[in-house]
Amino acid sequence: MAADGMSIDLDELFESLPNRWKVRIKFSAHLFEGFPCWEWHGWNDGKDNGRGHAKTKIQGKAVYVHRAIYEMVAGDVPAEYVMDHRCENMPCCNPKHLEVVTVRENTYRGGARLFGPNGAYGESEEVPF
Ligand SMILES: [Zn+2]
Repeated sequence: MAADGMSIDLDELFESLPNRWKVRIKFSAHLFEGFPCWEWHGWNDGKDNGRGHAKTKIQGKAVYVHRAIYEMVAGDVPAEYVMDHRCENMPCCNPKHLEVVTVRENTYRGGARLFGPNGAYGESEEVPF
């Protein structure tokens, strides 16, 4: 299930974020399903020509910012699941643009976006979110 299925007050959520995160998040002009991407301008995992997934440290431990924000809304995401950026904007941390999926599903979706729905993997798995 996508986070947009939950009632999230994005403004309220944003305000509740640590200040050191807020200064790094810029609301993009790019809208997905009517909401702007929350683009992270800071440390990232370097993928996609340096526009990779947002990273930061919490108590000395490296974490993905988009995943941490999603978990603030939806609760802990088990390690075997990954976050799919439905907006296809890797630095985006807007939980309404994210969905929890299996690694296999994420690979399938990436392939489907590149190669069409009949790409490398043809199976979609239900996940408990
Ligand atoms: Zn986005």
